Amino acid sequence: MKSVLLIPATSAAFLHTPGTVALLQESGFDVTIATDAEAFAEYVRIATGKPPVPWTDEFHGYDAVLMAPFSSDYGVPGTDAPLIVAPFLSGGAAAPSIDGATVLVPDGPDAPMGRLGSGRVASPEQCVEAVVTALTPQDFAGRTILLTAGPTIEDADPARFISNRSTGRMGVAIAAMAARRGAKVILVHGPMLAPVPKVQNVVPVAVRSAEQMQEAVLAHIGKADVAILCAAVADFAPDSYSEEKIKKGKSQHFTLQMHRTPDILATVGALPNKPFLVGFAAESNDIRNNALDKLRRKNCDMLCANDILAPGCGFATDTNSLLVFTRDGACTEIPLASKADVANAMLDLVLTYNI
Ligand code: C5P
Repeated sequence: MKSVLLIPATSAAFLHTPGTVALLQESGFDVTIATDAEAFAEYVRIATGKPPVPWTDEFHGYDAVLMAPFSSDYGVPGTDAPLIVAPFLSGGAAAPSIDGATVLVPDGPDAPMGRLGSGRVASPEQCVEAVVTALTPQDFAGRTILLTAGPTIEDADPARFISNRSTGRMGVAIAAMAARRGAKVILVHGPMLAPVPKVQNVVPVAVRSAEQMQEAVLAHIGKADVAILCAAVADFAPDSYSEEKIKKGKSQHFTLQMHRTPDILATVGALPNKPFLVGFAAESNDIRNNALDKLRRKNCDMLCANDILAPGCGFATDTNSLLVFTRDGACTEIPLASKADVANAMLDLVLTYNI
């Protein structure tokens, strides 16, 4: 179990610290809190099961030190662990830069802070993500990944559309894990249920239709070392869009004329200087042959096949398993695990290809 020393150093701690402690513990960290504030001691005992440690000039023996919320009135202690600082900023103050520390700039606007007035501090989620990132080997540093995720929506009229059940969770898990490992991620996504990871290294590009997704992918592909196309692109789109809601009419039947959407994966596969290209495939039968056929037809370097009939796999689940095929016909199984773990195992494989 990795240990985190949390140093809250302003009154904003009364509002901020409980959320941060809960999230650190949920993420599997052993949390120790350093404070001299008497009023805070009982909370620390209840939340962490141990008394607070007193403030000193040096803190050693922890895997990470998180100063949150930090105030410039306090000094920064010495430590041999990664140091993450989340300043409490009031009145539009800019975040200070601190030697040897990762300083978290809050990603939201000023929030009401009770009797403290208003101010901003990085959210507990942002703080914990920074701790996890600081403890993760940065093996994707310096690389840019272009990722597609989520469904696309093909509108028929102002009320109706064609889409599918993709929630975008697998793609979002890949984005979050790659960013944690130091990659810059350009996340081109359709309207999806899964929230876009709010981390600095993920640049979201929101689109709606397959055509818009293709346009966004081609606009950014030149910057990518790796493209992972994981979106569940709608296969067909209505031939025309009706500005007015289409009337039911009297007939018992209705035919919507549709056409094939652009195949984004095949388009990228045909580019002269394509990046290392990873496709996904949802399959229900004859997985190996279908996957290898798709890999070759779309000129991918790697194809991740999902058996959508297997329990715990596919749409709207928290888990997945993959069969990963490469051009030489090799196949690696990534067994059933959380989508985050599956994403990491898949990224490990990408790295073995010397991208
Ligand atoms: O042919 P199929 O749709 O099964 O291929 C799946 C793979 O192709 C996925 O990587 C998906 O993101 C990509 N795809 C695409 N554009 C389409 C259809 C699929 O990029 N129009």
